[in-house]
Amino acid sequence: MAKDKKGPVEKIALQCTECKRRNYTTEKNRRNLPNKLEFSKYCPHDRKHTLHRETKIK
Ligand SMILES: [Zn+2]
Repeated sequence: MAKDKKGPVEKIALQCTECKRRNYTTEKNRRNLPNKLEFSKYCPHDRKHTLHRETKIK
């Protein structure tokens, strides 16, 4: 943990829990936010607000 050269900020994608599309990308600080993020966001595919969950970008 102390030798983590990448730092605490990690790029993540926000994936729609209904259609499984990744509609948003963002960054989060792993040190401050160790848990998975969940946001209610607009999904252009579903054309409504849905729950978006954090996924890793690779
Ligand atoms: Zn969707």
